[in-house]
Amino acid sequence: MQEKRALTIALAGNPNSGKTSIFNAITGAHHKVGNYPGVTDEKREGTLEYHGWRIHVVDLPGTYSLTAYSLDEVVARDFVLNEKPDIIVDVLDSSNLERNLYLLLQLIELGLPVVAALNMADEAAAKGILIDDKTLSRTLGVPMIPTIGSRGQGVTELLDAVIETFETHKMPRMPSYGEDIEAHIAALVHLLEQDEAFAAAYSPRWIAIKLIEKDPDARRRIEQHVRAAEIHTALEAAWHWITLHYGKDAEIILSEQRYGYIHGAVAEAVHRKRLRGISLTEQLDRFVMHPLVGLPLFFFVIWGIFKLTFVLGEYPVAWLEQLFGSLEGLVQNSVLPGAVRDLLINGIIHGVGGVFSFVPLIVILFFCISILEDTGYIARAAFLTDHFLHAIGLHGQSFMPLMLGFGCSVPAIMATRTLKSPKERIATILAIPFISCGGKLPIYVLLAGAFFARNASTVVMVMYASGVVLSVLSTFFLRRTVLKGQSMPFVMELPPYRIPTLKGVLWHVWEKTWSYARKAGTIILAVSVLMWLITSYPKARGIQEYEIHARQSVAEAQPGLSEAAISARAEVLVRQYQLEHSIAGQFGKLIEPVIAPIGFDWKVGVALIPGLAAKELVVSTLGVLYGAPVDENSESLSLRQSLREAPDWSPRIALALMVFILVMPPCFASLATIRAEAGDKWLAFQVVYSLVLAWVISFLVSLAGRAFGM
Ligand code: GDP
Ligand code: MG
Repeated sequence: MQEKRALTIALAGNPNSGKTSIFNAITGAHHKVGNYPGVTDEKREGTLEYHGWRIHVVDLPGTYSLTAYSLDEVVARDFVLNEKPDIIVDVLDSSNLERNLYLLLQLIELGLPVVAALNMADEAAAKGILIDDKTLSRTLGVPMIPTIGSRGQGVTELLDAVIETFETHKMPRMPSYGEDIEAHIAALVHLLEQDEAFAAAYSPRWIAIKLIEKDPDARRRIEQHVRAAEIHTALEAAWHWITLHYGKDAEIILSEQRYGYIHGAVAEAVHRKRLRGISLTEQLDRFVMHPLVGLPLFFFVIWGIFKLTFVLGEYPVAWLEQLFGSLEGLVQNSVLPGAVRDLLINGIIHGVGGVFSFVPLIVILFFCISILEDTGYIARAAFLTDHFLHAIGLHGQSFMPLMLGFGCSVPAIMATRTLKSPKERIATILAIPFISCGGKLPIYVLLAGAFFARNASTVVMVMYASGVVLSVLSTFFLRRTVLKGQSMPFVMELPPYRIPTLKGVLWHVWEKTWSYARKAGTIILAVSVLMWLITSYPKARGIQEYEIHARQSVAEAQPGLSEAAISARAEVLVRQYQLEHSIAGQFGKLIEPVIAPIGFDWKVGVALIPGLAAKELVVSTLGVLYGAPVDENSESLSLRQSLREAPDWSPRIALALMVFILVMPPCFASLATIRAEAGDKWLAFQVVYSLVLAWVISFLVSLAGRAFGM
């Protein structure tokens, strides 16, 4: 059999131009697409077989340019420079051709063969933009293939063009910068070519242009060059000439020249039909982006989502609680009393069930957020909040990562890679953990439901809002102290409104729900069992005597209770007595002096420890600690109810605990991501900063609560 011929292609393009859609269409993968810039945060790879070829495809992060200023641009550029893919496929948004061609020119200059996909062909047509792909292709010397990535149209033509370009070694035409600048480029290229190893590693023309543009990375690379000193002299001459003749910096001139070149190419190949009336997107934006209506509408939408989540979610959550309740009843009746039954009920069912019951809320919340994302509304919210984010030293660009933080801090922190300024990036990373993630939701729901029954959804919303306010204040403070520095100018784009596809929305929801549920089934199960072990052992001495004593005091405190109800309540007391003498109890007592000023006793200390690993574990640990004893109708008392009845709890404690959990360091997974993205120094900062802040704020909340007699 004939051996397969192999080739590697890299997909490049502006953010939101449809790269991931094209990638998925080519490789049959299901990566996340989204209607806002900055979704693909790392390069993704896939392989396909096509007409006897084995084609390896790499999806690069979206970039507008190839300077060395943002991490995304560096990732994309380094891949092309170091891995030298056989073909670069530039995915262009045809409805925004000029801006997209700017990146194409820079890719051409890298000196590798390029094929372009004129993606969003449908949207361009709808906007009345007619692109003559043959003419454009001839002008730029790059094959241009119209595609509709979201529907997989034009993909085979694209692959055919890729193979043809590979086989014929067709190279793009280099854009020209005009005779005089070209002379300076040629002088530099001549010097650069004299180091053979260097010239083999980088396209000399590309390095020459980047040097003239004062690209720091290119300058670092020529330090190794044998003619480095002469190159510097030639470079000074070029800069001197350009500023003398144009009166502007060299990098501005080169970029103007590129736009001039693009303008010429577009003028020949693109025709615009005058469309009557204004587009639907424009019509909608007049309302959605209105200076007075926009923000209130945004807050209304967010409020609506929360309302919907809790009102609708209440029922399935109750069903699930009932389900776990009957499961417990089943175990109660079929397994003999002893350690095994205890483990099943108090370790596994209470631990995992407590977390699992919240799955419906996660589903509804992410269903709503996915719809907003895919229609393009989230990108508008970023625009609306840009002004405000400027005031705290960030940009609208930080909005998306912060928004993702409502789901999970891990992808949110990764999404900061699109930010240009390293200081803004660190500031955003440090702000994200204060945004309440999905894992904190169950704690709020549990405690608010138990102690603020009538206003539960308001209290939960206040917690979310406090997180936002805190991240704002913290960023404001950090940007004026440890992270002082200029903001980088940035132009944001608004994608058109798109109708979300059901498949896309369901996919997002599934992704979020699955990662939540999987956590409940693995780490949370494991830690619940561990928590059960260290709360149940060693066995306390004198426990029988204590049980008799507990039953008596319950019966005296609440006369008229049935025998079963007395047993149920006494059981909680016995369990706590046991807990006090267990390993966990001893540990909680050890840290009690530190948290006592807030009003937390050693039991809260026990619950907080696993909260460092994952926030959901606080709920499952409370489940293990306070249990859900079976009462007279053999219906289980909910965890809510047993917390409410516990003498050492009060609304004040519940509120302080919610605040502590809001502010305390995020889970292990997030900390690991912070470490990977920002380094050890910022990881240490984050941990200490948020621990201290958590203590101080919940102490103040507790004080205030006491003052108001809670
Ligand atoms: P990326 O950021 O470049 O990876 O872009 P995505 O693949 O995530 O796509 C951005 C948005 O554009 C998504 O909502 C896609 O469904 C949509 N999209 C992609 N290609 C096309 C296309 O050719 N036409 C239209 N109308 N929408 C598209
Ligand atoms: Mg993408």
